[in-house]
Amino acid sequence: MKLIFLGAPGAGKGTQAENVQQKLNIPAISTGNILKEAVRNQTPLGLQAKGFMDAGQLVPDELIIGIIKERLSRADCEKGFILDGVPRTVAQAEALDAMGVTIDRVVNIEVPDETIIVRMAGRRACPSCGATYHLDFKPPAVEGICDKCGTALIQRSDDHPDTVKERLKVYHIQTQPLEDYYGKKGILTTVVGQQELSDTTRLTFKALGISE
Ligand code: ADP
Repeated sequence: MKLIFLGAPGAGKGTQAENVQQKLNIPAISTGNILKEAVRNQTPLGLQAKGFMDAGQLVPDELIIGIIKERLSRADCEKGFILDGVPRTVAQAEALDAMGVTIDRVVNIEVPDETIIVRMAGRRACPSCGATYHLDFKPPAVEGICDKCGTALIQRSDDHPDTVKERLKVYHIQTQPLEDYYGKKGILTTVVGQQELSDTTRLTFKALGISE
């Protein structure tokens, strides 16, 4: 299965993509995670992307298309994959089409902006290993400390409320048109994000015809 998870920043698509990855045993590919790792390691890609990410803007299409071409050419993608948070522009979607990639289904996770703003305010991340937490929904065992590596947790600069609002604006203008793009192809399913993560997972599995 070749899948795309679409949804605003903080809608929970990454969490759902991970659940489906485990269930179907196909890789979940997050351009956000690839970029964040590149920023942490200060690679040439990371240095180019950082300014855009901190400002809540999208990273230029050419960089993203390059990442995706390289990643999808690897052997573990032969049986299928989940694209989490990519494509985010019509140009990226067209590039996938031009690569000859046939997507089976697009899951669109829908959550109101106000809910997202509240949720993101509680997100915390480990600057060392990249693990993520949430003050209310997924707290670390020891307050403020990463469970995995013991580093002090931070609020990512792109999770600050002003940046979140900017990211949502960018989402509505640049990414939401993909609902139409894939809707017209007849492969879009919208899942309304629920308060309880497990309920969203159930609806996502149902949308994909996967038994729990
Ligand atoms: P979120 O889903 O919380 O927005 P991500 O981890 O997916 O966070 O992405 C973090 C940042 O990386 C985005 O705000 C954006 O700047 C950049 N990014 C990730 N994927 C893409 C993409 N497909 N196109 C452009 N920019 C991207």
